[in-house]
Amino acid sequence: MAVPKRKHSNARSGSRRAHNALTSKQLTSCPKCSTTVPTHVVCPGCGYYMGRVVMAEQQEEAAAE
Ligand SMILES: [Zn+2]
Repeated sequence: MAVPKRKHSNARSGSRRAHNALTSKQLTSCPKCSTTVPTHVVCPGCGYYMGRVVMAEQQEEAAAE
C-alpha cells in the first residue's frame, strides 16, 4: 500500500482549507408579514411567495386536524 513519505505541513493543510469557508445565507424580509426569510423560499410565517399564497398556514392545518 502506498504510504506518504513525509508529513504534510500545517501550512499545506491550511492552504487547502482556505476555500472551505461557509457563507451565510442571503436573508430578506417578507413583504407581507415582515418575517426574515431566506431568498427564493416560501415564507414559513404566512405561506406567501412571489405575492401569492402557495402554502397553507401552519395554524390552519393544525386546526383542521
Ligand atoms: Zn410572510
